[in-house]
Amino acid sequence: MESAALRDIILRVAEKNPLTIAQYMELALQHPEYGYYRHSDPLGADGDFVTAPEISQMFGETIALWCLKTWRQMGEPPEFILCELGPGRGTMMADIMRLSVQAEGFRKACRVILVESNASLRERQDKALVEHHPRWVDHLSALPELPAIILANEFFDALPVRQFIHHETGWSEIRVGVQDGALAWVMGRPAPSAAMLLSETQRKLPVGAIAEISPQAQDVMRQAAAHIAEHSGAVLAIDYGYETPGGNPTFQALEKHRAADPLGDPGHADLTAHVDFSALAAIAAQAGLRPWPLLEQGEFLRRLGLAQRREQLGEQATPEQKQDIAAAYHRLTAPEAMGTLFKVFCAVSDAKITPAGWE
Ligand code: SAH
Repeated sequence: MESAALRDIILRVAEKNPLTIAQYMELALQHPEYGYYRHSDPLGADGDFVTAPEISQMFGETIALWCLKTWRQMGEPPEFILCELGPGRGTMMADIMRLSVQAEGFRKACRVILVESNASLRERQDKALVEHHPRWVDHLSALPELPAIILANEFFDALPVRQFIHHETGWSEIRVGVQDGALAWVMGRPAPSAAMLLSETQRKLPVGAIAEISPQAQDVMRQAAAHIAEHSGAVLAIDYGYETPGGNPTFQALEKHRAADPLGDPGHADLTAHVDFSALAAIAAQAGLRPWPLLEQGEFLRRLGLAQRREQLGEQATPEQKQDIAAAYHRLTAPEAMGTLFKVFCAVSDAKITPAGWE
C-alpha cells in the first residue's frame, strides 16, 4: 500500500519533469509520510542491513577509545559536544558512553547531541541514551558554541547523489523519468553546466565514465568543518566509499540484505551510494581543517586495539559467546567482509591533534 502511494507520488512528479537521482532519493528516503528513513527501522538481521555497531559492542568501545584520546589531545575541554550524525538505534553512542565511565572528566564534560531524521529511531535513541540526556538538532549549524567531536557511521552513504555520464560531446545528468507508465532512467543532453558541478579529477574521467556527487553530503561536511574550525575538535566518518572517483556508478538499492532495483520499490528499499571521501577531504581542507589519509576500517580498528578488546571480552565468555566474538571480529576487520570496503575519514582543527590510529 504505502510503497504504491509513494510510487504514484513520484510518478506524478517525474512525468512532468524528470527528477535528478538526488531528488528521487530524497523522496524515496525522506518523504514525510512514506520515506524509507521516516517510517521504519531498517537496521538489524530482520531489516535491510546490519551496521558495525549492531554487529558487536567492540566497535563502539573502540570508537569510545578514539573519542577519549581525541578529547585529551584537544586539551580536555571542560565542556564539549559529542555529536553523532544518523545514530540509528543509538547503539554506538551507548557503547561509547558506557566505556567512558573509565574517564570521569570526559563523561562530565560531554554534551550528547544527535542529528536524526527518523522519528521512530529518535525514540529508540532516547531510550538507549536516556541517562546521558541527549538533545537533537536538525542541522549542525544549530550546535552550541563549544568544541566538538562529530561522529558518523554509515550516515554519509544515505545522503542523495546526482549522477553524470561522460559522452564524446560532454557530460549529461542521468535522471529518473517515466516510460510506459513506469519509472525509468533518462539521459539528458550534454551541458556545460553539468561538467561545472564535477571535480577536476572527475572531469578527467574517460568517455563512458559515470561520476557521482552528493551536494548534501558536501553541505553536511561544510557545516561540520565550519563548526570545528571555529570551536576546535575533530570529525570521524566511517562508511563504504573511495579515495578517488573511479568512474563507476555506486548508487544502489538494498532490500532484505539483497541488491534490488533502485527504481523498483521507492520507500521500501534502502538507497545508498559509496561516499566520495576526496570531496569531503577537499571541503574540510577548504575550511582550514587538517584531513588525515583515509584508513581502511580493519586497519583502523586493529590499530586501536580491537584484538585486545576481543581477548578481554573472551576471558569471561562461554565457548559459544567466544565463537560469536571471533565471528564479529572477522566481520569487522576481514578484507572479504567490512575490513577494506569501509574506510575511516578524519579531519581535525589543530596541528597539535594527531588522532589515534594515525600516529
Ligand atoms: N549509524 C547507525 C545507523 C546507520 S543508518 C549505525 O551505524 O547503526 C543511517 C542513519 O542515518 C539512520 O539513523 C537514518 O535514519 C539516518 N539518516 C539518514 N538520512 C538522514 C538525514 N538526511 N538526516 C538525518 N539523519 C538521517
